[in-house]
Order: sequence, then C-alpha cells, then structure tokens
Amino acid sequence: MVQKSVLKQLAREHGTPLFVVDHQEIRRNYAEFRKRLPRVQAYYAVKANPDPAIVRTLYDAGCSFDVASMPEFLIVHENIRDLPAKARQDFIWDKIIYANPIKANETLEELDAFKPLVTYDNHEEIRKIRKHAPHAGLALRLQVPNTGAMVELSSKFGAASGEAVELIEAAHDAGLVVEGLSFHVGSQTTNFENYVQAIHLAAGVFQEAESRGFELKLLDIGGGFPAPYNSQVEPFKKLARRITAELDRLFPKKIEILAEPGRFLVATAATCVTKVIGKARREGKRCYYLDDGVYHTFSGILFDHCQYRLQAFRKGPTEICSVFGPTCDALDTISLAEELPELRLGDHVFSRNIGAYSHASSTYFNGFPPAKVVHINC
Ligand SMILES: *Cc1c(COP(=O)(O)O)cnc(C)c1O
Repeated sequence: MVQKSVLKQLAREHGTPLFVVDHQEIRRNYAEFRKRLPRVQAYYAVKANPDPAIVRTLYDAGCSFDVASMPEFLIVHENIRDLPAKARQDFIWDKIIYANPIKANETLEELDAFKPLVTYDNHEEIRKIRKHAPHAGLALRLQVPNTGAMVELSSKFGAASGEAVELIEAAHDAGLVVEGLSFHVGSQTTNFENYVQAIHLAAGVFQEAESRGFELKLLDIGGGFPAPYNSQVEPFKKLARRITAELDRLFPKKIEILAEPGRFLVATAATCVTKVIGKARREGKRCYYLDDGVYHTFSGILFDHCQYRLQAFRKGPTEICSVFGPTCDALDTISLAEELPELRLGDHVFSRNIGAYSHASSTYFNGFPPAKVVHINC
C-alpha cells in the first residue's frame, strides 16, 4: 500500500488530479493469481486499465492479454516488441486472446494477418470470420449464470449450452477450428457458485462435443475475480481452491486452462489524489467540490457500479458531507454521504483501490482532462 506521505509528496510534485499506479502491487497481484491457480494462465483484460506501462510490467512478469478492440490489440502488440523474432511469429495465442464475441468486418480483416484466437457466440459471426478472418482460431463463448456479480455480462454475450455443440459443428463446417470454450461469470463476482456452475456447464459441453467427434483443447474461465474492496469480499485463495478442485475433477491435465482477470490485477494498484477546489453548505449539509469526479477517475461509480471511499490527510472530528466533481453536471456526484473531517480549500483527499475501470473510462467532458498518471515501483 502506498504510504500517505508518498501520496502527499507526489501530489505536491505533480499537482492534481493525480492517478498513482503502484507496479509492485500489480506484480504482487499477478504472483498471487498464479500461485493460487497454478493450472491457469492469466490473460490480463486490458480494458480494466490499458496503460502501456501496466501491459509491460505484466508482460515481464509472464502474463498474457485479453483484448477486445483493434486499438487494445495494438497496445499489447506494440509493447511486447522486444520479443525475439522467432517467438513473435507464433506467440500470439500464448500471449493474446481477442475476447470480444462481436467483431466488425474491418477488425477481422486486420486481425487475420496475426492468425488470432477469437471468441464467438452465434452463426452470423461464423460467416463473418470465415469471410474476413479465415486464419483465426475460435473459442465459443458460453452463457453462464452471473448471479450476484457487481457488473452483469450474461445478457449481452454467450451461447446457450443447448446450442453450443451445434455452433461448434457450424464453425467446423465453415472450415474453421474451434479450440475450446470461454465464459464470463460477471465482474466482481463474490458469489463463488457462479464459477462452479460455469465450469460444470463447460464440462458438459466438452463431453457432448467429444461424443460428436470434436476435440476441444482449451477452457477460458474468463474474468470476474473480485478485488478486496471491503472486508465482505472473501479471500481469493478460497475461490481459487474451489476453482482448482473443480478443474481437476472435470478437466484432464492436457486441457489448457486460461483466465482473463482484469480488476483483480489492477484495482488495488492505483490511488487517486484530488484537491478540494470549492466548499459550501447547502440545506445544512457540508458540500465539497473536488478537481476529479464521475466524468473522470471516479467514472466507475456510474459505469462499474463501484463506490469508492474518500480519505483525508487532515485529521479532526468528522461529519457526513456531499462530495462533487468539478463539472457543471449534477450527475458528477461522488458521494452524498462521505464521512470527512472539516477540509480547507486546497486540501488533498485520496481514494484507494481505484485502479480498475476508472481512468480507463475517463472523459474530457466540460474541458477537464483525465487525471495525470504517475507510475511508481516500475
Ligand atoms: C471485462 C472482461 C474481462 C475482465 O473482467 P474482470 O471482471 O475485470 O476480471 C474478462 N473477459 C472479458 C471477455 C471481459 O469482457
């Protein structure tokens, strides 16, 4: 955890709003993931935070990547260029999966040169891939329960398990090769049963496919691994133990297992530091205005359904107050019930565990640019 004194010093040096990324924490999260899920290769879901420095740190640690757009693909590809030429030719499946089940024709055409591994979940997509990316390998995305996830994904993607083998057969008939299955249990999944049920569903499809003559080689268990935002989130090792037990029971060692952790690797690795730029009392309640808000680093409040706690450097008796971002929109509300000591204009406040789905979806709304990023312990 980055010490308060360090945050204060960095804010003084760089100004605010400031987004401090601790690479030691990223390496620690990656090591924890690998240690607890030894059978599983991690493909970092770049959308959680696409900063090239994060991609390089994870690559150096041995991580692979999940991308969902051509720009994300290129961020990864360009930041792992120091790879030996030989490795670069056939590294791609080991290092990148293109895990967006829906791809524009133009994207498929660009991807095809890399012989990528891509996901799909419907017949139209098979036709598109056959025509525009015939050299791609496929993974079928299954629909699985997303019960209790903070961010639900199952209403948008995933083939029903009843149509899975038919979709594998259709891809085969189109001259494509289906390498395996993927799923996503929903982001910030604290209901560990989702993983157990999804692994069971996938095992059923593996069996049915095999009985119809299709040998699947890989299982991608997706993302969703919860970040420890509060003490209610059960420890990762408990989830990992259940996943490992189910995988060992249902999938022989020769099946390659992948996962696409996003939040788990980066959420705890960033802290934002912001400054009080305005102060009022409205209907008796103390209101603070910060130089960062919901259109910027705190965008996860809207897009990610995530509430972030603010902490002050200053000490003193606290009161419940409202905290707003700098734009003119009332939507730009960080909290209506934050407990803070009385702050002065120019005081800094900070928010930890804000590394995922935050800076990544920051905008330039109202002329306010995204927070400046500083990397420490690179
Ligand atoms: C967003 C996403 C992820 C990452 O999810 P987390 O909950 O951040 O781990 C992984 N895979 C796919 C396909 C995604 O869309």
